[in-house]
Amino acid sequence: MATNGLSVHKSEEEWRAILSPEQFHILRDKGTEPRGTGHYDKFYDEGVYNCAGCGTPLYKSGTKFSSGCGWPAFFEGLPGAINRTPDADGRRTEITCAACGGHLGHVFKGEGFKTPTDERHCVNSVSIKFVPEKSDL
Ligand SMILES: [Zn+2]
Repeated sequence: MATNGLSVHKSEEEWRAILSPEQFHILRDKGTEPRGTGHYDKFYDEGVYNCAGCGTPLYKSGTKFSSGCGWPAFFEGLPGAINRTPDADGRRTEITCAACGGHLGHVFKGEGFKTPTDERHCVNSVSIKFVPEKSDL
């Protein structure tokens, strides 16, 4: 087991080779896409969202909801797929892909959304890749 617990290991050069500059900025440098610009902000097809870096399934479409925050919002990730790390300033909790460590966004709790968890995973569209429900049949 690697010391950082990740199953996907790549050097910065390897990531740069497979990711677009925008994906690299967000997934590896913990950037944030501009509010309201994300491809999946208002996208509600049935399927699964995989990590854009390593392809690991992260969220089901059934857990996506309209938060109005300007980024895709999910109330729950797939079990064990997502790691949580408090930001250095303690104000937010970063969420990352548990397989490759790619930055997804932040998770907020107790905001009063009418969801089963009262959590909001605020995820960059750039960090995820949608796979339609029927594609794996
Ligand atoms: Zn990943």
